[in-house]
Amino acid sequence: MKSLNPPSTIKHLLALPLVCIALTSAGAYAQSDEPGAPGEPYPDMPRTAPIGVRIGKYMDIPESAKGPAVDPAKGYRLQELGKGLYMITDNIYQSMFMVYDKGVVVVDTPPTFALHIPQAIAEVTTQPITHVVYSHSHIDHIGGTRGLGGTPIIIAQEETKKLLEQAKDPNRPLPTVTFGDNYTLKVGSQVLELSYHGYGHEPGNIFIYAPAQKTLMVIDVIFPGWMPWRRLALAQNMAGLFVQVEEIGKIPFETLIAGHVARTGTRADVALQSEFMNDLKKAAGDALGSTEIGETVNPKDLTNPWALFDNYIDRVALQCVNTLTPKWSKKLAAFDVYIWDQCYAMEQSLRID
Ligand SMILES: [Zn+2]
Repeated sequence: MKSLNPPSTIKHLLALPLVCIALTSAGAYAQSDEPGAPGEPYPDMPRTAPIGVRIGKYMDIPESAKGPAVDPAKGYRLQELGKGLYMITDNIYQSMFMVYDKGVVVVDTPPTFALHIPQAIAEVTTQPITHVVYSHSHIDHIGGTRGLGGTPIIIAQEETKKLLEQAKDPNRPLPTVTFGDNYTLKVGSQVLELSYHGYGHEPGNIFIYAPAQKTLMVIDVIFPGWMPWRRLALAQNMAGLFVQVEEIGKIPFETLIAGHVARTGTRADVALQSEFMNDLKKAAGDALGSTEIGETVNPKDLTNPWALFDNYIDRVALQCVNTLTPKWSKKLAAFDVYIWDQCYAMEQSLRID
């Protein structure tokens, strides 16, 4: 186990003052005398650097997480999904468009490449953009909408409209058509089935299914081949997120557009993430149950409930990280980048949701 140098010990330890007497079987040991200074590392500190500590070299990205390269001269990659459906990506964000006999339906407009969307469409058709579908309200997925020009019909779930009314962002024009549970968009011979499965990532985040192409688009929930973005992609409703992952598995898709990473997803990617999330939930739950409050904290801090709690949660998180590392560190890309975030997010949800 690599021990951390005191100056680089986690920021949470900055709240732990001097002369800490560890109440572990290892016996007492001296800490720094300076209030707020880093102290001794916790016992059994994971090798993966915690939040706020610089990592020397992040883990290599496994081949299973990679996708086709983007031509740097173009700045985007177009991937045919069959029967007039295409994914556009810069290998970080993903959006989709569907061509029908009189026009094009665009689903999401990530600002990182939205200016290329007309160019990408022009590779396959001269038809105009007639519709835009919003997956959810977040600016990083739909903030390029105004830049597309024209006055397309904009379709979104009604919660998304409420959030956009609050945001008052000219780059994210308000939807002109909203729905509650389901909406079927039929244009020419093409069909997109929009459905709402409650909220996990944020209210209004929908499933977009193209049945003829067996392609499902759900954004910011599944991360094919990768660790989810930090704090389970900032999920606002953790229980709802778990439900949505199960719901995704019930849809008979073959290709998943998940909104991020360099490739499309598969059913196996969804199953793998579901397995990871369930392991995370168990590891965090077990750690909450087996960790004692007050151990390893300086006795002089015993009257400081914030300090007791911070010390407790740090030890819960490190036990969670240690539990998950052997099985998952080489299975999902960027395990080392966000595993601490996932453990902190999960233990918090288990305590308060
Ligand atoms: Zn989002």
